[in-house]
Amino acid sequence: MTPGVRLVVLGKQGAGKGTQCVRLSHYYAVPHISTGDMLRANVRTKTPLGLDAKARMDRGELLPDTLIMDMVRERLQERNVSARGFILDGCPRTVVQAEILAEMLAPMTLDLVVELDVPTELVLERIASRRVCTDCGHIYSTSEPPVVKWVCDVCGGNVVQRDDDTEEAVLRRLAAYEAETAPLADWYRAHDLLTTIDGVGSPDDVLARTIEAIESRRGWGRS
Ligand code: ADP
Repeated sequence: MTPGVRLVVLGKQGAGKGTQCVRLSHYYAVPHISTGDMLRANVRTKTPLGLDAKARMDRGELLPDTLIMDMVRERLQERNVSARGFILDGCPRTVVQAEILAEMLAPMTLDLVVELDVPTELVLERIASRRVCTDCGHIYSTSEPPVVKWVCDVCGGNVVQRDDDTEEAVLRRLAAYEAETAPLADWYRAHDLLTTIDGVGSPDDVLARTIEAIESRRGWGRS
């Protein structure tokens, strides 16, 4: 069996993090932990956390670091995570979150942080056409919709446009990415954990590039 992995995936909104993380989690047989999906599940089931988070999420604002990291800590403590590792999607998003994550994992460390690099013009196009299943999180686009309109091919759930995929909220999220998350890439680079992958191309091409980078980093490069 493929060894597990402890991976963080960074990239601006629409860079393809969700799509790649699902594929990576199948490839390495480790859980895909998406803070955005966890928060949306809380919103859907109207937990106190979800009720509190919804307005800020719809505006495209970040939530407090401690709230996010408490939620992630709980998830990382589950047994299937500690055994093989994880793919973290959407977290950390700030240097403070990265510091808390490093403390949580110690004495273990991350294997690698993958930054998916995609030009802003392209992510704006991708987000405008993005549609998502509210049940399983599967991502569609208006150019590759589900077979039956608004019904998920994978689980039969409801396919919608995300409430925070409005132009205004997307621009705010991209600004938050530049302000808060781009410095995080520098932080991980300084800790020698960062690799940048060209995120332009088909999902399969980007996946192949990402696996190649992870494997060569861990010294299993295909020579
Ligand atoms: P995107 O990357 O497209 O903005 P996500 O699904 O990752 O979407 O997150 C949606 C929203 O959830 C964010 O805009 C933010 O409000 C909140 N959120 C998710 N992860 C974090 C995090 N690590 N720190 C702060 N807020 C977060």
